Amino acid sequence: MKNSNIFKNIIENKTSSKIIYQNKNVTAFHDINPKAPVHILIVSNKLIKSSNDIDKKNIYILSDMFYIAITLAKKFKINETGYRLTINCNAHGGQEIPHLHMHLLGGKNLGRMLT
Ligand code: 5GP
Repeated sequence: MKNSNIFKNIIENKTSSKIIYQNKNVTAFHDINPKAPVHILIVSNKLIKSSNDIDKKNIYILSDMFYIAITLAKKFKINETGYRLTINCNAHGGQEIPHLHMHLLGGKNLGRMLT
């Protein structure tokens, strides 16, 4: 896994990555290596390493992530054609950065879930 400081620096606006949306809980920006025409990451501002670390106290962040993802899907006009929301967890889930984030993917037919 890579270092979680990558996302921390983006959240704190210390990189050239352009923030699309930010509130007190989450930050959204374009993925540096997009897998689809629209590939946005919605990241928890607080360092939560993975979905394994979601608990009763911080679960509100997930509802914010979902809400922002759906709002951005409308903004980027992929809501009608459709999109995929993904959260990867640990090695078998393909998680590269140990900082909780949701992928919003769309803008083309993404095919079946897994090949
Ligand atoms: P994961 O595999 O952890 O679910 O997803 C991590 C994502 O972060 C990958 O899709 C990867 O392309 C993206 N990523 C890695 N480093 C950077 C970076 O420095 N800037 C941005 N915008 N995205 C990054």
